[in-house]
Amino acid sequence: MITLSQCQQWDQQDPLAHFKPQFNLPDHIIYLDGNSLGAQPKEALSCSQHVLQKEWAQGLIGSWNSAGWWDLPVKLGDKIGQLIGAKTGETIVTDTTSLNLFKVLSTALQIQQKAPERQLIIAEKDVFPTDIYMIQGLISIMGKAYQLRLIDGPEDLAHVLNEHTAAVVLSHVNYRTGYLYNMHQTNDLIHQHGALAIWDLCHSIGALPIDLNHDGADFAVGCTYKYLNGGPGAPAMLWAAARHQTQSMQPLSGWWGHQRPFDMATSYTPADNIRRYLCGTQPIVSMKLIECGVDLFLQTNMQTIRTKSLQLTDLLIQLIQQECAGYGLEIITPREHQHRGSHVSLRHQEGYAIVQALIQRGVIGDYREPEVIRLGITPLYLSHSDVWHAVQHLKEVLQHKEWDQPQYHTRGQVT
Ligand SMILES: *Cc1c(COP(=O)(O)O)cnc(C)c1O
Repeated sequence: MITLSQCQQWDQQDPLAHFKPQFNLPDHIIYLDGNSLGAQPKEALSCSQHVLQKEWAQGLIGSWNSAGWWDLPVKLGDKIGQLIGAKTGETIVTDTTSLNLFKVLSTALQIQQKAPERQLIIAEKDVFPTDIYMIQGLISIMGKAYQLRLIDGPEDLAHVLNEHTAAVVLSHVNYRTGYLYNMHQTNDLIHQHGALAIWDLCHSIGALPIDLNHDGADFAVGCTYKYLNGGPGAPAMLWAAARHQTQSMQPLSGWWGHQRPFDMATSYTPADNIRRYLCGTQPIVSMKLIECGVDLFLQTNMQTIRTKSLQLTDLLIQLIQQECAGYGLEIITPREHQHRGSHVSLRHQEGYAIVQALIQRGVIGDYREPEVIRLGITPLYLSHSDVWHAVQHLKEVLQHKEWDQPQYHTRGQVT
């Protein structure tokens, strides 16, 4: 039996406990949705004031140089690069994950054009759908020869890869189930077939150690507003292995990616570095705030974060089994640590209404079709006791069928 006092004891030994006061979180809220929108670092408030009052209001256009606005995408990229095993100059912060996927996939297909028979793109059926939509959109302008093949799950990859495969797009951690790929083995498999590996890191960046170079990845994209706490809609990251960077050009060839943007030349020459993945003027105010979140991660290390993440997801799973047995919850997140990301997903017929009833009690998780309750674990601002209390709330919601009220069955615009 795990008890609350046991959880409190674990909290006292928690090497990351001092991070929680560095976030602005409402009292009496247990926030289990940092995998969807990260909490606000307190530093973000003073940082936004600085950028508005000093850099914009006072510095005006001079801030492109004096406040480092122009270099910000690369500077932030290199900071984030430290969390994902990147070399200097391989990572950039810009645009959205969706757009960045479009850019790196275009580049990958272009690299593969030396083998024109490679016209198959493989992705998973059960990924966050924007990845599929963007692949379909790219194919629609590349010509019908390209094909998207959607596999049912990780175990199918080996059977579908062949000498026609150009690229494989995979989510490092599945947004719904929390399944974590072995990136090294998967890259080896993909490369054995001559294909390129593109990783969507949205649910792994800031949640667990990533070593893109060591694991042999080709390209990666990911959000900064989830585990990295960059703020709603903060620009995404893009990583391109150094060996691919100057081999091909991404097609959104806006002036920010030009080798000499201020020449105002009539033809496009891509920058000979990671800046070629930029397109147009970046949302500086939003981008500035990313640094506040990332700097917190740089005060610790991803291994310490991973250790606590696994402790908390283990605890959550054990407590659900201990406290909520018999209410029809099915845990769909892998039990093996090597295949588990940083959230726990539960399947229940009344999943949507249960999530709404939990939110009413101050436990914020989210719901994903079909029937999936998602509980995100963010080690920088969650404790063992938080997990204990969240499960007590869940138990009460189930015990008293609190979810069975009409207001918990109506859907908002954003679920
Ligand atoms: C959140 C998420 C996205 C979001 O993409 P945006 O372009 O930032 O809206 C993409 N892929 C995955 C796997 C995600 O979890």
